[in-house]
Amino acid sequence: MAVQTSATAAPSAAGTGAVDLGPASGLSCRECGERFALGPIFACEVCFGPLEVAYDLPTGDPEGLRKRIENGPENIWRYAPLLPVPADVASKPNLNPGWTKLVQADNLARELGIEPGKLHVKDDSGNPTHSFKDRVVAQALEAARAFGYTTLSCSSTGNLAGAVGAAAARAGFRSCVFIPSDLEQGKVVMAAVYGGELVGIEGNYDDVNRFCSELIGDPAGEGWGFVNVNLRPYYGEGSKTLAYEICEQLGWRIPDQIVIPIASGSQLTKIDKGIQELIRLGLVEDRPYKIFGAQAEGCSPVSAAFKAGQDVVRPQKPDTIAKSLAIGNPADGPYVLDICRRTGGAVEDVTDAEIVDAIKLLARTEGVFTETAGGVTLGVAKKLVEAGAIDPSLTTVVVNTGDGLKTLDAVEPTTGMTAVIRPNLDSFREAGLA
Ligand SMILES: *Cc1c(COP(=O)(O)O)cnc(C)c1O
Ligand SMILES: [Zn+2]
Repeated sequence: MAVQTSATAAPSAAGTGAVDLGPASGLSCRECGERFALGPIFACEVCFGPLEVAYDLPTGDPEGLRKRIENGPENIWRYAPLLPVPADVASKPNLNPGWTKLVQADNLARELGIEPGKLHVKDDSGNPTHSFKDRVVAQALEAARAFGYTTLSCSSTGNLAGAVGAAAARAGFRSCVFIPSDLEQGKVVMAAVYGGELVGIEGNYDDVNRFCSELIGDPAGEGWGFVNVNLRPYYGEGSKTLAYEICEQLGWRIPDQIVIPIASGSQLTKIDKGIQELIRLGLVEDRPYKIFGAQAEGCSPVSAAFKAGQDVVRPQKPDTIAKSLAIGNPADGPYVLDICRRTGGAVEDVTDAEIVDAIKLLARTEGVFTETAGGVTLGVAKKLVEAGAIDPSLTTVVVNTGDGLKTLDAVEPTTGMTAVIRPNLDSFREAGLA
């Protein structure tokens, strides 16, 4: 049954049923299982639970599917048969994100006491706008096209705003995105440079998100595709490609342990969903794996609930340098708790000082410069190895979701020139560098 409210109806495709999103067969409620037709809706009409994309996945010929994927393009569209996108998606104007490097991090492993060859960093700073958000925006863009939207919007902690701005520019959409007005300079510039409208809101991310929910219900926001609100079910599916790539890059094998940062929690839940799909499709062997969630101490509502043994995530007021993860009321928090508990993982948090240390540790050992979110993830990984929660003899993947060039402010106070000298050898020797 197709259900659409007037407040969320799309301008042209609403109710026509003529939506081609490949293997996506509908939307289903994560709480009560009620099914809905594909549309720009995100909450269940029966129980208000969040909706997710349901599929008719290509089961039955895992070898054929694996070959098809391996012969596909070196971006997320190699997985098009498993995503809510039309079959000809690769020919449409988009940023073709994904297929980022899986870095075998032996120097880092040595410092952390992990066995050589067992530690990998999935480096998603290599995406077109230098964060994993290009993956989710690429899916939301296809949904927006299918539903007839021409304006893309979002509430963002920074990276999403840039990813939406860039994707809209490339696809010929208008964009108007919303961020907290106190974000890092690098995030603001990255979001503004693509030429769309960028609106700073006096408040934190949770205030921005609440404003966007109001805007959706108002004529002022009519006809707008909010990638992480009314297009959220499609948006979320983009994060599955991280799981697909990690497993394929490990030789179609599920890693034993994965450490993932948590903002809204969407990415963590979809990486689990992606692994479950690969198992169901027969593309990887079904084996146990543990998922670990990472938060900053200054915004740790999920970690706090995990440690207290609670199912309810109590909202917090964020205060941390990890602004991309500063969501005090994470929509997917309870699902994250479920997954980390079910798989035998954990949720942990680190201080701002530990975040900075971890950023420098990754740069110093592997030549990878991560943003504050990556500092959170690696800092938590280190803490969990030290606590014995992560087994150093098993395969571990740490997900680096963003680029350090966007959060220079975090490391600037503790980095700089070794010396400033006059341009002659005496001066060089005097500085003790010879
Ligand atoms: C958005 C973001 C995340 C996590 O996002 P979720 O809302 O949990 O999916 C992680 N790292 C970076 C750098 C981000 O921008
Ligand atoms: Zn429901």
